[in-house]
Amino acid sequence: MKKFLVLSLALLLVLSVAACGTPDQTTPTPPAADPTAPVAPVDPTAPAAPDDGPADVAANIGSCIYKFDDTFMTGVRNAMTETAAGLGAELDIQDSRNDQPTQNSQVEAFITKGVNALAINPVDRTAAGSITDLARAAGLPVVFLNREPEEPVMQGYDKIWYVGAKAEESGTMSGQILVDYWQANPSVDKNGDSKLQYVLLKGEQGHQDAELRTEFSQKALVDAGLAIDSDQNLDECLLAIDSATWDKPKATDLMNTWISSIGLDKIEAVFANNDDMALGALEALKANGYNTGDASKYIPVVGVDATAPALESMSKGELLGTVLNDAVNQGAATVAIANAAAKGLEINQANIGYEVTDGKYIWIPYVKVTVDNYTQFQ
Ligand code: BGC
Ligand code: CA
Repeated sequence: MKKFLVLSLALLLVLSVAACGTPDQTTPTPPAADPTAPVAPVDPTAPAAPDDGPADVAANIGSCIYKFDDTFMTGVRNAMTETAAGLGAELDIQDSRNDQPTQNSQVEAFITKGVNALAINPVDRTAAGSITDLARAAGLPVVFLNREPEEPVMQGYDKIWYVGAKAEESGTMSGQILVDYWQANPSVDKNGDSKLQYVLLKGEQGHQDAELRTEFSQKALVDAGLAIDSDQNLDECLLAIDSATWDKPKATDLMNTWISSIGLDKIEAVFANNDDMALGALEALKANGYNTGDASKYIPVVGVDATAPALESMSKGELLGTVLNDAVNQGAATVAIANAAAKGLEINQANIGYEVTDGKYIWIPYVKVTVDNYTQFQ
């Protein structure tokens, strides 16, 4: 219900260009009301003006998601569908099945079919350049989401945008959740060395969210004096690190391996770059009698995303914390841009309802989620 309200708010902003600032920390600052601003003609049912120009073109958006079988991207996808329906835009979303050649063919098919905007979640973010070449050749606007194209690609085309979140922010927040927990619960330091011994489950190698969350969650520990600056090499604090490619069963397997090789009595905390992997680690812990209510058998686990299953796990006292990766606003912003760009409108806050940085980037803020505030996100 809350998500529906947030989405409705975003839609209202796009449709009416009116200010309606319900204070809500999960939504970006709504655009300021500017009575002199031109009203964006985004209503496809509005009667055509004599000189209607490109703005009365109905948006027909072709979208690819790297794979449908991803908990976070499913949330984004649902928000995209809901937003498109609210805007009266056509939206065709294809499952790229984690295969870049498949995605490239899907983009080519969209262009042949005659879409007037693209919204792409690349399988491999280094492939954004060739997708942009296809868009450029067809003169089409392209919005990338969740997997950030490299800077030269972003700068090399005037009809390219990126919707995402600052990964370093989520890394810092997940580190801080553990620092706060450490300060309130000295018994976390099982071996009494005044440092935190932890394992880290990394997302997909090369994904900006995996690299930066890994770096900045550890930096938060170093800044608080709980770990040493080891450049992500194994040391007396970082006991193990490996990629489980965002995947829950893979994280369970890795955690089981670490439980055997390191020992539950030596692991003081678990970091995961996303909630699916945090929940995977928890499966392994729970199977060993940990994090099921016995206070002497508890290892703090922190994820990122604030997915529904993660919030449920938090409500049971299993997961310590997470960071809201706002799927609703990322999906809504993506479709708002594609819709406006398809109509030839300028991409600015007045037309899409989100702040635009450097003319190309829409950054959706992260929010720390712990037992103190998780119910706000359910
Ligand atoms: C999310 C992950 C997701 C990944 C997909 C990340 O931002 O935190 O849960 O698997 O994006 O690219
Ligand atoms: Ca310790």
